[in-house]
Amino acid sequence: MDRMHLTLASADAIAALEARRPQLWTNPNRSHDGMPVCSWGERMIGMADVTEAANRFANFRHVLLQLFPELEATGGVIESPLIRASFLQEALGLPPFAGHVFVKADHGLPVAGSIKARGGIHEVLELAEHLAVAHGFASEGDLAGLLDPEARAFLGQYQVSVGSTGNLGLSIGVIASALGFKATVHMSADAKQWKKDRLRKRNVAVVEHEGDYAAAVAAGRRQAECDAKSYFVDDEDSLSLFLGYSAAALGLKSQLHASGVVVDERHPLFVYLPCGVGGAPSGIAFGLAHVFGPHVHCFFAEPVASPCFLLSMLDPSGSNPAVYDIGLDNQTEADGLAVPRASARAVSTMRTALGGVFTVDDERLFQHVHTAAVTESLRIEPSAAAGFDGPRWVTSPGEGTEYLERHGLNQYVANSTHVIWTTGGLFVPDNEYQAFFERGAISKQRLQARAC
Ligand SMILES: *Cc1c(COP(=O)(O)O)cnc(C)c1O
Repeated sequence: MDRMHLTLASADAIAALEARRPQLWTNPNRSHDGMPVCSWGERMIGMADVTEAANRFANFRHVLLQLFPELEATGGVIESPLIRASFLQEALGLPPFAGHVFVKADHGLPVAGSIKARGGIHEVLELAEHLAVAHGFASEGDLAGLLDPEARAFLGQYQVSVGSTGNLGLSIGVIASALGFKATVHMSADAKQWKKDRLRKRNVAVVEHEGDYAAAVAAGRRQAECDAKSYFVDDEDSLSLFLGYSAAALGLKSQLHASGVVVDERHPLFVYLPCGVGGAPSGIAFGLAHVFGPHVHCFFAEPVASPCFLLSMLDPSGSNPAVYDIGLDNQTEADGLAVPRASARAVSTMRTALGGVFTVDDERLFQHVHTAAVTESLRIEPSAAAGFDGPRWVTSPGEGTEYLERHGLNQYVANSTHVIWTTGGLFVPDNEYQAFFERGAISKQRLQARAC
C-alpha cells in the first residue's frame, strides 16, 4: 500500500493496526449530512431500493412460513428483538449520563442463526422470484406457486453456490435447498466442523479449500462461471446481499419507536456493528442513513488480526489492501470476521457516511461473550461480541469525544441511544459455546487479579 500520502492521523492508526493495539479511529471524511455514496458501480441506489428489499421479505412471508416452522410465532417474518440492556450497560462501565444501551439481537435470527439471514436469504429469494416469475410459476404479488412440486423441480436445475467462512454459507445453503435449488458452499479449510455438518445434513454440498476465506470465494466464483445454470452469491460484490441487509433499518426504526426512543438532532443514535468484508454492516448503515439522516452514527468493529475495512478506509489510493500487507495474520476466533480484504464496494459506499471503526482483541471478545450471558442471558458467538466496546470508546476522552465535538454532539450525550448489534450464535453447539463462556470467565478473573 502507498504510505507516501498518508496523513499523520492515518499513519498513527496504521501503526496501531500493525502493533495489534485496540483503537478507535474516527472518519475525517464523514460528510455533514452523513449520507453514504449512493452508487454501486454504474447503478445509483437509494431509499427505494431499501424499501423494495423490505417488501420482498414481506411478500415471501407465507412461503417462508411453509418452509420454516420456526417462523410460526412471527407469521413468516425473520426479525430479531431490540432489547434494552441496562445490566449490560452497567457491566460495560457506561454511566446513565452517557445514554442508554440497547442490543439488536441478530444472534438469534431464525433460519440462519446470524445476521447473514438478512443478506443471504434476500439474495436467494430474489433469484427464486425472478426465475419463477419469468417462467410462469408465480407472480410478483403471489409467490405461493414456488411451493408447488413443479416449481421446486424447475429450481432444482439451478445451482446456487457461495464462498464462506461459515455463516453466509449456512444462510445461503439452508434457504437455497429449502426452495429446491441445488446448493454448494465453498468453505476455507479452517471453517468450523459443526457448520459443515449442519449444511451436509440439509443436502448442501460442502467443498473445502486450502487457504483462507478469500481463496474459498475465488474457487467458488471460478466454478460457477463454467455453468450457465449456476448462480454465485458474491459476498464482496453483491448488491442484492447489500440491500437485504439494508432493510434491517426499517425494522430498527419501528422497534426504536415502539420503545419510545426519539432520534433527532438532540437525540443521537450510535450503532455498533461487527465487520467482516463489510457488506452486512455497510448495508445496515446505508439503510440507517436513509432512515435517520445525519442523526445516526455507525461504527464498525473488527478483530485486531483482521481489520481489513479500517485498512481500506485509511488507504488514500483506494487500493483495497489485505491485512497481510501490513504483517497481520488474519487469525482470530471471531470466524465470522476473519476476512483479509474488505469489499471494495462496501468501503466506497461508507467513505462519507461511516462514523469510525474500532478494533478488539480476541481475549476481550471472550470476556464480552461471558458478560452478555451473565448480564442479559444472551448466547452469542465471539464475532457477535465485537461491538461491545463501542459505547465506551465513543463516550471516552480522546478520539471519541473529539468525534462528538466535531459533530456538535457533546451536549447531547445523555440523550443518546447506543445500539450494540449482536450478529450470531443461535446454532453454535452447546459444547463449543460452553468453551467460549469459560474462556471468557477465566479471562475476566485474570484481568481482575491484575487490577488488584
Ligand atoms: C458475516 C458476519 C459479520 C459481518 O458481515 P460482513 O458482511 O462479512 O461484514 C458479523 N458477524 C457475524 C457473526 C457474521 O457471520
